[in-house]
Amino acid sequence: MALDNYPIAAIATAPGRGGIGIVRISGADLKPFILDFFQRELQPRHAHFLGFNDAHQAPIDEGIALYFPGPQSYTGQDVLELQGHGGPAVLRRVLERCLEVGRPYHMRLAQPGEYTQRAFLNNRLDLAQAEAVADLIDASSSAAAKGAMASLSGAFSKEINRLAQQIIHLRMLVEATLDFPEEEIDFLEKYQAADQLQQIQQQVSNIFAQAKQGQVLRDGLQVVLAGQPNVGKSSLLNTLAGDEIAIVTDIAGTTRDRLSQTIHINGVPIHITDTAGLREAQDQVERIGIDRSWQEIHRAHVILHLIDARDTYTAAEEELRAQFPAHTPILTVCNKIDLISDKAREQLEQWQAEQDTQNHEVLLISALTGQGLDTLRQKLLDIAGWSTITESPWLARERHLHALERCAEHLQIAAAHAQHDDQILDLFAEELRLAHTELGAITGEFSSDDLLGEIFSSFCIGK
Ligand code: GDP
Repeated sequence: MALDNYPIAAIATAPGRGGIGIVRISGADLKPFILDFFQRELQPRHAHFLGFNDAHQAPIDEGIALYFPGPQSYTGQDVLELQGHGGPAVLRRVLERCLEVGRPYHMRLAQPGEYTQRAFLNNRLDLAQAEAVADLIDASSSAAAKGAMASLSGAFSKEINRLAQQIIHLRMLVEATLDFPEEEIDFLEKYQAADQLQQIQQQVSNIFAQAKQGQVLRDGLQVVLAGQPNVGKSSLLNTLAGDEIAIVTDIAGTTRDRLSQTIHINGVPIHITDTAGLREAQDQVERIGIDRSWQEIHRAHVILHLIDARDTYTAAEEELRAQFPAHTPILTVCNKIDLISDKAREQLEQWQAEQDTQNHEVLLISALTGQGLDTLRQKLLDIAGWSTITESPWLARERHLHALERCAEHLQIAAAHAQHDDQILDLFAEELRLAHTELGAITGEFSSDDLLGEIFSSFCIGK
């Protein structure tokens, strides 16, 4: 992906009204544009209070102009920020005026994420840091925001780079040995290559564990509430969501409607979807609702199968459970335990213990009184893979986990080659090279244009 030096402009602040609104411009050389726009030069990194004027020098707005000459700027190019009043109409007029003045310089509107993309292409930040910019903006909990900021500061990239350096070191030794084939046999012992490799493998596994936590913190867990009508699915959703200070965000990939809520447990986003009662439908509208419920069930990371504590686990429930996807964890949740007698409760607990021995997890709760909900919350965190012990210092994405997994696979194959009697060094070297490439994909050292396009297009405009 090549760096585009033509100037781009966009409104960088969120749509809507606000105290301040910012139009941001980035390009290889903004000096002539600044002269045309303000009829004067701007001192680098100084706040100038100026009028933002139209073609007839009548003021559109007035505010602060900040000029950051490249390479000491966000994008590494010249950057100009015009901070005016935060109204949509006035900002649009300032932006239009910029495009008008910028026409001779081929100024155009910025694409989503284009400023950060330029920063990446100018080596101002690596790919994992660029992703952290979007994750910081999208963070829906304080814990996620803290993790995103740590990634943005380079904490995650530093770990990856350190690992890459160790692999490079080992590769250098192997490749030097390959140039002197008579020494090949001694290589592994001479440099204790097997030990070095083992240490690297251990580190990959540690980083993977932390990255997994970071990914859980970013993406959370998709939970679906399934069960017969009236067992208390909506009540449970409301109770879980009710304890929450609602943070309303549009997290990519989650649809928000009446039946879908994101709650946070220890900062981990839990996306809960209520489904229509899964009984045999009589009319068409209900059937559509039920089809949609099954789609949700197939997408979920975990199914909460709600039953009414007053009913026994009937054949109908068994039948329903049998239809759930085989690889999705299922928690059977007996709701309304506030309505049953002590004796019935005892019997239920006995059944719960029996089921436990058969790896069938049963929880007893009351959506009305809140009994058992702490256990349910903890259970969801466990399933999400969240651990307070290896809490991640940084945020990570699914693609980082895949890359680390593939890196670990290549190292595993390399280790097998090292143990083999023939110790085929060029195969060993090749696996190290592939492992290194996987790490490079995380930081963007080796990544395809398609991947870059996909990552940056999910940013907001102006970032
Ligand atoms: P859904 O059809 O599965 O979504 O069930 P609802 O959440 O609409 O609940 C059906 C009825 O059960 C409502 O009248 C709720 O107030 C009641 N209900 C739900 N959970 C509890 C509970 O834990 N205890 C008691 N006593 N009533 C509950």
